[in-house]
Amino acid sequence: MIAIFIPFIFGCSCHDLVQTSPDMKNGFLIRHVNVFTAQADRPVLKDADVYIQGRKIARISTKRLNIPGAEIIDGKGRMLLPGLIDFHNHVMAGMIIPWDLELLPTMRFNLEAMLYSAIVATVDMNGESVASMRKLSRDIESGAILGPRLFYCGMGFTAKGAHPIPMVEMVKGKLPWYMRMFIPDIVIEVNNEEDMAKVDKHLAAGPDFTKIFLDDLPDGSPKMKPEIVQAIVKRSHEKSIPVLIHIGRNEDVKVAIESGADGIAHDVYKERLDPELARELVRRKMIVIPTVYVFDKLNTFMNEKNYTHYSRLERETFPPSYKKAMNNPKPYIIDDELWAGYFRNYRQTYSRVIHPNVKILKDEGVTILAGTDSPNLGLATGGSLHVELAHLVEGGLTPTEALISATSTPARILREVFHKNIDFGVIEEGKSADLLLVDGDPTKNIRDTENIIAVFDKGNRLERRLQ
Ligand SMILES: [Zn+2]
Repeated sequence: MIAIFIPFIFGCSCHDLVQTSPDMKNGFLIRHVNVFTAQADRPVLKDADVYIQGRKIARISTKRLNIPGAEIIDGKGRMLLPGLIDFHNHVMAGMIIPWDLELLPTMRFNLEAMLYSAIVATVDMNGESVASMRKLSRDIESGAILGPRLFYCGMGFTAKGAHPIPMVEMVKGKLPWYMRMFIPDIVIEVNNEEDMAKVDKHLAAGPDFTKIFLDDLPDGSPKMKPEIVQAIVKRSHEKSIPVLIHIGRNEDVKVAIESGADGIAHDVYKERLDPELARELVRRKMIVIPTVYVFDKLNTFMNEKNYTHYSRLERETFPPSYKKAMNNPKPYIIDDELWAGYFRNYRQTYSRVIHPNVKILKDEGVTILAGTDSPNLGLATGGSLHVELAHLVEGGLTPTEALISATSTPARILREVFHKNIDFGVIEEGKSADLLLVDGDPTKNIRDTENIIAVFDKGNRLERRLQ
């Protein structure tokens, strides 16, 4: 939502939430397991045996398999799902805790926390330069760094004085000078035709997609002009780069639609979504990443000054330094109209529309993708995606639809819209073994995704360690 973070040149990576386990030469055989394939025609396969060999799902059978030497995993009463995809993330960022703004960002921890939570791929919705995001993505690919596959836009485009600039300035203003100087630019300002040179330069660096900010935050602050939005979309599409637009209101959705963008980051959250716009999103095959939970968090984050009300998985994926800060609130006065406005608006409007707006998307048949916007506003990178799924269900999706929004649908979008050659997101013979084994049945109770028994990252069973 606020897409704000403080990427310092230093940072600690002294955590081991996950580790790769020794190679199992003969693979893993999961027996008697219910398989959530994430395929529309046959989402659940009951009482199957699944054999994982090397990096792949080698066999799936409803007859018993016998694989000599394979490590047997009992699947009774359990469900095997594709590893999850979080379509809205800020991996370079740290959480913003208003009374402790000097906490360092936690990039390495974020990455491990995602794998710990069975997130095998993520879309970074505004990070650092394309070059540094690419380096990170390649380090993950090569195995030098443990983390989910990373798709990135680098820095997003915004207008002078537009979101997220006021938020960044506000946070900067509260930091001591020696920290302020390490905060790099996190967005590229585009205000007129001359600025298109900056757009071209950015696109030439080869981001996976383009991100544009189009939201008056705080209310009444500047927004990018529609013709500039259109020009950026046109230039991106000329290079086959898809475009996602951060929006807040119906009028922003209208601009996004008219620009020809590929989707919107966040649902309308400041007012009731106009169903006619939802129908237009369907006609144009545009995607929506509603990020319900991050808006819901506005209600609790400032009031409950500890982290005990988070889910167990969130508590496990909260960076230790942040846990400490959450449990030691310092007197903090909301003296800033920006923060105060957020919380006021939440109580008055957002809380009433965020869930119903999901229902409108669903009823009109809009393509919905699960995404968190973590670690914004107290979300735990990793654990909070599971809570987002529950919020999508609260908004009217069936548990199966919520699971699809975090598995096969984002995988299809990565293939068809992002032009990526990927083979995760479904359970099928020959596909990459990126898997999540849980106790229970998340197609009946969505919160069962949190009962994690095992996570496979490209065939490798991860050792998950509690911090
Ligand atoms: Zn964001």
